[in-house]
Amino acid sequence: PPLMPVLSATGLMKSFGGILAVNDASIEVTQGSITGLIGPNGAGKTTVFNLLSNFIQPDRGRVLFDGEPIERLPPYQIAQRGMTRTFQVARVLSRLSVMDNMLLAAQQQTGEKFWSPWFLPGRIAKEENAARDRAVEILESVGLAAKANDYAGALSGGQRKLLEIARALMTRPKLVLLDEPAAGVNPTLIHQICEYITYWNRQGLTFLVIEHNMDVIMSLCDRVWVLAEGTNLAEGTPAQVQSDPKVLEAYLGS
Ligand code: ATP
Repeated sequence: PPLMPVLSATGLMKSFGGILAVNDASIEVTQGSITGLIGPNGAGKTTVFNLLSNFIQPDRGRVLFDGEPIERLPPYQIAQRGMTRTFQVARVLSRLSVMDNMLLAAQQQTGEKFWSPWFLPGRIAKEENAARDRAVEILESVGLAAKANDYAGALSGGQRKLLEIARALMTRPKLVLLDEPAAGVNPTLIHQICEYITYWNRQGLTFLVIEHNMDVIMSLCDRVWVLAEGTNLAEGTPAQVQSDPKVLEAYLGS
């Protein structure tokens, strides 16, 4: 049977003042895949992420998630439906512990008020215990368990990126959008981040990944979409895309 697209966006348009940042771009993400989104600097990749998650509203275009249109939903409702994201520069809450960053993500998802920085030890809700168990499991899976009680602000840049991924997993999403998970990360940790993403993909999670590091794209992705100047340039397996003359030209030209 043909594989279902979990996400399908068509005809995305966005201009900022006079600049047409995204011009009739489309993308499809198959259920269970790790799909890459690549392109030269300024191609519109981050803007596409912002349009998919509705952090920025598209001027035009349709976004279907699980077959339902979501382009008019606020970002928190999109997250509740199972699509979460990370940012190019990790946005963690520096003055909270790693664990509290994780618990806050769970609370934001359910809207429940079990989490509080001032909670009384005797009154921990059942939901908080469940969230803590899940947080420990996820932190272990990304090598951050030993840092659970450290301030998030004390983590290295790469560890912050891992925490952002871990936090995205707290909400049991179907699809995670990763914005440059390897940028500014040392080679050893890049290799580990790839292994963690692969691990969660095997657990059934689908990923859409923006990344400039071609080794990462090649080793992780099932399919790759290439943007240039805000529009689709190519789409295919990593090997097909890498040997596509149009793609090579776009990269060399930039
Ligand atoms: P990079 O790989 O360098 O991160 P990108 O492919 O993610 O680039 P975008 O950041 O989406 O590209 O930018 C696409 C174009 O839109 C660029 O010309 C950029 O300057 C412009 N742009 C993006 N966001 C804004 C904004 N908020 N206001 C004005 N112009 C913007």
